[in-house]
Amino acid sequence: MVNEATLKELQDICSTNNVQLVAVSKTKPVEAIQAAYGLGQRTFGENRAQELAEKQPALPDDIQWHMIGHLQRNKVKFITPFVHLIHSIDSKRLLKQVNKDARKHGRVIGCLLQVHIAREESKFGFDEAELIALLDSGLLDGLKNVRVCGLMGMATFTDDMDRVRAEFRGLNDLFLKVKGDYFANDTAFKELSMGMSGDYKVAMEEGSTMVRVGSLIFGEREG
Ligand SMILES: *Cc1c(COP(=O)(O)O)cnc(C)c1O
Repeated sequence: MVNEATLKELQDICSTNNVQLVAVSKTKPVEAIQAAYGLGQRTFGENRAQELAEKQPALPDDIQWHMIGHLQRNKVKFITPFVHLIHSIDSKRLLKQVNKDARKHGRVIGCLLQVHIAREESKFGFDEAELIALLDSGLLDGLKNVRVCGLMGMATFTDDMDRVRAEFRGLNDLFLKVKGDYFANDTAFKELSMGMSGDYKVAMEEGSTMVRVGSLIFGEREG
């Protein structure tokens, strides 16, 4: 259910490089998550709000749950009581919704702004101009119950690793620019979430601080 050796190896590589490992457990049963927990894993990522809300109460309290997939505004309420970090903020309206729900629970929720770096049309996220417009708008200053901790991106799904590297490098450049221009005095803005099973090594070489790895740890998903 869990590839123990692979998980241990990933945990080692990540801790050596100061990168956080998010074990992506979507579609996998709580038993698999429990097994990874038993191997010391404490950070897990899911991409569906309801699935996450169902699994969370069945598992230990000291797990940090990350929401990594596209999130609809009407689903935010399922995860606001406990979610640790939302990687997939892809609109102003979503960010405002998270802020509103977080305030109801007296929480400040960590968020990453998702940037569209892949060639595919269908991928979610801000493009660079939209991201800069959001930051210039001053909206963030008024949202006291979200804390923007960095950026997230997904590379094009391709075997062309030069292309993947170029996309990650571009995202890291943008991350550093945004950090310098908008978050110079904000130590919370430090995360760059990029890299999955097929490209985490390249992502780490290009400055990732957080990798989201599923199938290497838990095996291929159905469907
Ligand atoms: C599923 C998923 C991952 C993990 O993908 P693997 O290829 O299984 O490692 C990472 N990030 C996001 C946003 C995902 O939806």
